[in-house]
Amino acid sequence: MHTPELAAYAVSAINSRGRNYPDAQPSHRSDFQRDRDRIVHSTAFRRLEYKTQVFVNHEGDLFRTRLTHSLEVAQIARGIARALRLNEDLAEAISLAHDLGHTPFGHAGQEALNNCMHAHGGFEHNLQSLRTVDLLEERYAAFDGLNLCFETREGIVKHCSLENARRLGELGERFLKRTQPSLEAQICNLADEIAYNNHDVDDGLRAGLITLEQLAEVGLFAQHVAAVRALYPGLGGRRLIHETTRRMINALVCDLIETTASNIARHQPQDVAAVRLAPPLVAFSDDLRQAQRNMKRFLRTHLYQHYQVLRMASKAQRIIADLFVAFTANPRLLPPQYQLPAEGDQARRVADYIAGMTDRYAIKEHRRLFAIGES
Ligand code: MG
Repeated sequence: MHTPELAAYAVSAINSRGRNYPDAQPSHRSDFQRDRDRIVHSTAFRRLEYKTQVFVNHEGDLFRTRLTHSLEVAQIARGIARALRLNEDLAEAISLAHDLGHTPFGHAGQEALNNCMHAHGGFEHNLQSLRTVDLLEERYAAFDGLNLCFETREGIVKHCSLENARRLGELGERFLKRTQPSLEAQICNLADEIAYNNHDVDDGLRAGLITLEQLAEVGLFAQHVAAVRALYPGLGGRRLIHETTRRMINALVCDLIETTASNIARHQPQDVAAVRLAPPLVAFSDDLRQAQRNMKRFLRTHLYQHYQVLRMASKAQRIIADLFVAFTANPRLLPPQYQLPAEGDQARRVADYIAGMTDRYAIKEHRRLFAIGES
């Protein structure tokens, strides 16, 4: 589909590197709209609803899940992409797919699975997202996976080790040559940060694990909460928090758009190839980058390392490790569709099975394997 309004440095269907398997041109939608549609219809996408980032799914109905997180990332990324005349459909597709490979139980689960896979090539969630869209989804007659465009797949692999990059072929080249992905991919990366910093503040306050008083030490929060209080003296509770986080998100998004626009104006990339060779052009100003860093440090200290979060994380790690040990010791415990002939890479297959689990499925499966009287 012709999209004349895109900037010369945007990715378009015309300059796309295409798909691995030939696929007929879609009618009435662009290739990147089709990628987005395939992602939304995938099984892995639906599972995001029951996977978490920081809090475990059963702890409350109002916390972010990976699904709502991915929607927030897509919303932020699309706004930024459109303002810069970049490919909004591509930004949306990457955002919706970026967490598809995440294990149950957020970072705790990813760490545990990576430890389990140490002797078998490790486990990286970005690569697992790629593996999901390239291989694991079983939906189409002609190919495994979703057969997405190169640029969507490139955006999904935010980072990876050099060793893995060598195995990825064309997709891994940029890590070896130290070049950049498309501007749309760069946007998704920072939209992810904007989304999780802000929703973790919101969820952390809701859970009572962090307080407004503690957050006063974070410059970005202090500045915007003061602005809200000046406008609405006496405002408290949920409205005060939301009026503050919406201002923080807006400030970050506007800063990112303005800083990126001026980087583009300075470097004048004429096309996507020039974008790849330029330094990263999507960026915050120095002030806001520092502000984001301070916020992250605050969240690490006060939320991610809160003893209640750590307790849940340690339970989660035990569940993942137990499942991995049981399944690799006896692959016949796996559901038949996950069993491989004896010479296959059983550990990777077990990792695929575990990574695909939702939080509650992992808890259930653990009970089924270890609790006498459960089946
Ligand atoms: Mg994310």
